[in-house]
Amino acid sequence: MKEISVRTKRRVEMVNITDEVRRAVGESGVMDGICHVFMPHTTAAVTINENADPDVVRDIETHMSRLVPEDGGFRHSEGNSDGHIKSSLFGCSETVFVEGGKLVLGTWQGIYFCEFDGPRSRKVFVKVS
Ligand code: ZN
Repeated sequence: MKEISVRTKRRVEMVNITDEVRRAVGESGVMDGICHVFMPHTTAAVTINENADPDVVRDIETHMSRLVPEDGGFRHSEGNSDGHIKSSLFGCSETVFVEGGKLVLGTWQGIYFCEFDGPRSRKVFVKVS
């Protein structure tokens, strides 16, 4: 299993980690298999989305904050319930096929670490089998 470190700068921020996941796949030596990407966090998530136009990521960040506002009148005393909800909406894992030692992603797809309670230092687990 490989561990990727991510340092976020904003409260809500999507970070493209595709290159880091590709590196983990290369280091695994697996030619044909499955790449699992897992977040060991309750206010972060992983998603796969557009890697070309950065406005798509900005739109997702902005719209998620409108959909689940930080001050939504939640019970949880840590003040980060919006982050917990967003984390569950996106999910904490993704699975990508590996063929010929490479990730099988669509041309416009990138793998994004999603921060919903930053800024923080986070980690991502990658296992290729
Ligand atoms: Zn909390």
